[in-house]
Amino acid sequence: MMTEQPHILVIDDEQIMREGCSRILSKNGWSVATADAGERGLEEIRRSPDSFDAILLDLMMPGMSGMEVLDRIRALDSNLLVIVITGYATVESAVEAMKKGAYDFIPKPFTPDQLRIVVKRALERRSLQKEAEFLRREREKSLQDVAAEKSRIKTIINCMGDGVLVCNRDEYIVLTNPAALRMLNVPEESVSGRPFSQSDLSPELSKIIDETLSRKEKGYLSVSQEFNLDERFLRAHTAPVTNDSGEIMGSVTVLQDISYLKELDKMKSEFIAMVAHELRAPIAAVEQQLTVILNRMAGELTEKQEKMLSRAKERTKGLLTLIKDLLDLSKIEAGKMVQYKEPLSLQDPIQHVVDLMRAEADNKRIDLQFLPSSVTSLIHADRNSMEGIFTNLISNAIKYTPEGGKVRVTLSEEGGCVKATVSDTGIGIRKEDLPRIFDKFFRVKTSETREIIGTGLGLSIVKSIVDAHLGSISIESEVGKGTTFIVLLPKEPFSPACIKEKE
Ligand code: ADP
Repeated sequence: MMTEQPHILVIDDEQIMREGCSRILSKNGWSVATADAGERGLEEIRRSPDSFDAILLDLMMPGMSGMEVLDRIRALDSNLLVIVITGYATVESAVEAMKKGAYDFIPKPFTPDQLRIVVKRALERRSLQKEAEFLRREREKSLQDVAAEKSRIKTIINCMGDGVLVCNRDEYIVLTNPAALRMLNVPEESVSGRPFSQSDLSPELSKIIDETLSRKEKGYLSVSQEFNLDERFLRAHTAPVTNDSGEIMGSVTVLQDISYLKELDKMKSEFIAMVAHELRAPIAAVEQQLTVILNRMAGELTEKQEKMLSRAKERTKGLLTLIKDLLDLSKIEAGKMVQYKEPLSLQDPIQHVVDLMRAEADNKRIDLQFLPSSVTSLIHADRNSMEGIFTNLISNAIKYTPEGGKVRVTLSEEGGCVKATVSDTGIGIRKEDLPRIFDKFFRVKTSETREIIGTGLGLSIVKSIVDAHLGSISIESEVGKGTTFIVLLPKEPFSPACIKEKE
């Protein structure tokens, strides 16, 4: 791939040879320079290094011999292609020149065609040489680019505020950034280059890395976990790194310090609890006053007044429920809700709640029944919290069941768990709403639920209480037919069997 006009230098003491070679080679479109002695030829080469593609060198010259010139040319640039012109049939000197690194030779006398063929071969070789050189430079350049890119990425990772920790598939920690070391409060040498299980990582972090690396199913599935470390809260997201065929090659963990978010959340909960607490007394007073008026203890009422005050009382009750839910929630978040765990039979708290709910069910002509059970096993639980669970579930069942429906509560045993169910013949829950049903403030929005007062907090409270007792809750529901909530709580004494069965 020759792009420029080839440049040839002819070094010969005989003018006739110089001119003859120039003429023949110029005809091929090649540019030719000449030198009448070895020294001058070397000067030309020194003056413009890299400019000659081939050199024709007469071996028989007065002054510096052709062999010496050849030596010096090779010393200047070993890539230069030198064709020696040998004297009449002196094969030995041609052999010697080739040994010294000449590319080719041409014995005198030669025809113009012989000269062209030899030079052309040298030029082709030169062209290949240049191409190889070009490719070598390109490769070097791209290697440099890769190295620069690598160091750029490393700089970026090192400057990140989030911690980064990378493990290979052999479970060795191969990369950490300063933020990760700072958050985990470990020196680099106690983690980098070590298997993560033998490093100073916290057990929670080791667990999610282990889960990620040992996962069998393919696809991108990240795991998140919050944990505390030295009075700080960290959140770790670990994702697998996979190759083209989906095999796990390692894991990347991004660590965030969420202590300030936790602090903000705590302040928010305290604020809500404080406001709810302050609102409760005056609203309860309003509700009592309304009850007094509605009971005609402050004089007669017109039908219209009674209707309006009844509505006001209903809304006030709704507000009191909201306040109670908010206070329960903030107690749960502060870890104060489930404080007094004791060996307990679920029978009693459920019976208590069913008795309390009876009036509400009767008001809607709903048949509420707690079916007899033979369960004798105890659970280790907080009594008030258990009442909280069933108050919410049973009151929901009544709220979301049309007049004349049925609500059934059952108690049974299943493996290492006590199982309680609350089922109704109500409106049911759509499949698409089920995943969010335990979220705070989530309420299903349909024409049937529009008129029903609620806060969307009840089920999230239920779920938090169940979780705090290491139990589980699930739902079976069919729109228009009814809903069943199933609560499983581990028996006393606690055995992990119940939890295993749930998984
Ligand atoms: P709310 O105060 O709105 O009742 P919850 O957290 O107790 O809040 O319930 C969340 C939502 O779940 C409700 O708004 C309702 O749409 C739905 N839901 C709860 N229990 C039932 C049930 N037994 N039948 C039908 N829908 C229900």
